[in-house]
Amino acid sequence: MPPSSKRLFELYSEHVNPGLARLLQFMGLDGLEERAEGCYLWDSEGRRYLDFLGGFGTFALGHRPPAVIQAVQRQLERMPLSSKLLVSPLQAELGALLAEIAPGDLKYSFFCNSGAEAVEGCLKLARAATGRAKIVAAEGAFHGKTLGALSVSGREVYRKPFEPLIPGVMFVPFGDTLALRQAVDGETAAVILEPVQGEGGVRIPPHDYLPAAREACDKAGALLILDEVQTGFGRTGKMFACEHWGVAPDLMALAKALGGGVMPIGAIVGTPATWKVFEENPLIHSSTFGGAPLACAAAIASVKEIRERDLPARAAEMGVYLLQGLSEVKAQFPEHVVDVRGLGLLTGIEFAEPDFASLVVSGLVSRGIIAAYTLNQPQVLRAEPPLIVTLEEICSFLAALRESMRQAVSLLGS
Ligand code: PLP
Repeated sequence: MPPSSKRLFELYSEHVNPGLARLLQFMGLDGLEERAEGCYLWDSEGRRYLDFLGGFGTFALGHRPPAVIQAVQRQLERMPLSSKLLVSPLQAELGALLAEIAPGDLKYSFFCNSGAEAVEGCLKLARAATGRAKIVAAEGAFHGKTLGALSVSGREVYRKPFEPLIPGVMFVPFGDTLALRQAVDGETAAVILEPVQGEGGVRIPPHDYLPAAREACDKAGALLILDEVQTGFGRTGKMFACEHWGVAPDLMALAKALGGGVMPIGAIVGTPATWKVFEENPLIHSSTFGGAPLACAAAIASVKEIRERDLPARAAEMGVYLLQGLSEVKAQFPEHVVDVRGLGLLTGIEFAEPDFASLVVSGLVSRGIIAAYTLNQPQVLRAEPPLIVTLEEICSFLAALRESMRQAVSLLGS
């Protein structure tokens, strides 16, 4: 007899992550994930959840999109992992596809397994291409939790236990054009930014910010790295968020939605100038599993689906309804909601305090909706559903949000 779901929850607590098990239990998430389809997932107790977290942006196409599943199944029959010696036809096809959709002169791709790895690679390539070490990063940024990515991420609680991190990183307030201009100098290898800060609380910069970052980098001979791990592939209403401001980076980090919600894959996409180091030594940066045939098959199918179904346009359209609904919620709860903001289907609702956000998340869970607060701003609840979300599902989310907020108000007694 296989262990019961209750026993498996205990085993997770005993052998994987006791603290997380406690936190999930507190939020009412005491079932095990069992299966998923489209915008929904089911737990071991048969409960169905509408997914408004979307795997932090991974499930752009929803769960188990048929075209991606089929591509992966076909590839599984041929060759799942790479020989690492012969040229991969799938990497070739995916590289060309990304060059076609990427902005500016971005032409080359290196494939890895995650967002943090893509950021690591961007930092390394920026150092190699410029011969400089200083990196300018933004307060509140989230670029991942490996040592290099963490070094350019801006939340103390994740950084402190691992210090000293990599040296030469200077932080500036996100969205402050003047501070950014002043920070970038002749020693700067790169500026790294998320076009819209996701985990920093869904923060959208002023209209002149990214163009100013581009200009400051060009003037100082520094590179612009844009982390589109969460914003890429249509999430904000454009294929890449930087297109909202007409800015193209020298290096771009991608992951999450690239794998179509089926396989893990990340990519560093760079201009010819950033790729010179590979000419000198083609093995200067490498990964055993990165860009494996199975992952590339998923990514090719995913990018094609996103493009053919014009999901960036759909995200823009649905995002308007979602943000409108969130604005109405704000008007209804003026004391508890500080702000609502969003671009496409990356939206956030900022509460007056983090405890309120936690209560609302638990309230949503009890009403069959999965959502979460942003990692670097726990008072901001993000609503980040798959890009295939329907208007009815947006309405269900908004109704459950209102009910959860009413409940949180009465629980907190104000
Ligand atoms: N960069 C951004 C903007 C992210 O949002 C994330 C994850 O949420 C990462 C990097 C790290 O990606 P991963 O968790 O795949 O390492």
